Amino acid sequence: MKKKEKIFKEGVRNSVCFGTGEAYFCPMCGSPCNTENLTLEHVPQDSISGKEIILTCETCNNSSGHLYEYDLSKMFKQNEIHKALFGFLDETSEIHRVFFKHGDIHLNADLKKEIMPDGSSFFRIKMLKEHNNPEELRRSSEVLRQISDNKSPFEFSISTSKYNSYKKTNVETAYLKSAFLALTSLLGYSFAFSKHCYHIRLKILGRNSYDYAPCISYEHNGVPKSCILELFEHGSFLVSFEDALVFMPHPLCDISIHNRFLDTLKESGGRMTCNFVLHEFPTSFVGIMDRDKSVAFREDPIQ
Ligand SMILES: [Zn+2]
Repeated sequence: MKKKEKIFKEGVRNSVCFGTGEAYFCPMCGSPCNTENLTLEHVPQDSISGKEIILTCETCNNSSGHLYEYDLSKMFKQNEIHKALFGFLDETSEIHRVFFKHGDIHLNADLKKEIMPDGSSFFRIKMLKEHNNPEELRRSSEVLRQISDNKSPFEFSISTSKYNSYKKTNVETAYLKSAFLALTSLLGYSFAFSKHCYHIRLKILGRNSYDYAPCISYEHNGVPKSCILELFEHGSFLVSFEDALVFMPHPLCDISIHNRFLDTLKESGGRMTCNFVLHEFPTSFVGIMDRDKSVAFREDPIQ
C-alpha cells in the first residue's frame, strides 16, 4: 500500500475512534478531505530532514507555512556555516555562500570546509568572477597590492547571515507546526482538536487573532534528541527535534498546569528534573490516544 493511502486509512480509523465518523480531517484546519486534496507532510519540515508521517490538506500545505518554514531553512543554513567555521562539524561541509567585507569593498565567495584523511581540516574560499562586481574585484586586487607595499594590513570580515537572515518568530512558528503535527501523529485527533490546541492551530495557519507564544529551547540540556517526552504531572509534552525542544500542552490536563510549568521552567533557567514517559518519534499517524486513552499514560515514569 502506498504511504499516502496508509496514512489516510490511519486517519480515518482515528476519526472513527475520536467520534467524528469515517473521514480524514486535515489536523490543521479541520476540513474533511479525500486523498486527492491531501498532501504528505514532512515532520519536521523536509529541508531539515523530516519524514513524511501525516497528511494535511493542500490549502494548509501551500499557505503561510512555506513563508515561515523558509526562515527555518535559512537558520539551519546559517547554523551549518557556523558549525563549519567553528569546528563543530567534523566532516566536509557543503558549499556555503558567504560575504566578505574589507572597508567598503564587498565580495561574494563560496566557502567549504574540507577534512583530510589525516584528520586535519582547511577552508576553501572561492571568489568567482561571475558572482562579483568587476569594480569590487579590481579594487580588492589594489588592496592586496598595498600589503606588498606595506601600506596597510589585509583585514576582512565575513558575514554568514547576508544570504540567510531569518525572522526568529517565523522559526518558532515552523517548530510549533512540526511539534503540533508530531503530537497529532502520536496521539491522534484527540490532541489536534482538543481545546488546548485551538490557538496553536490558529497560529500555525497564520491567523494571529490570538498571540500564542511558543515555548522553544535550542539547548537539549540532557533531553534525548528526536523523541517525545510526556510530562503528565506538569501537564505538558516535550517534542524533541535534532536542534530544538518544543513544549506543548497535554490535552488531558488543565492548561493552567502547563502554563505554571513554563513559568517555573523559565525561572529555573531551563534546568529542571522531571519525571517523564518516553515515546519514540512517530513514523506514521499512530493516534494512540484516539485508540485507547489509557495507552498514552503509563504508570512507570522514567527518572
Ligand atoms: Zn487544512
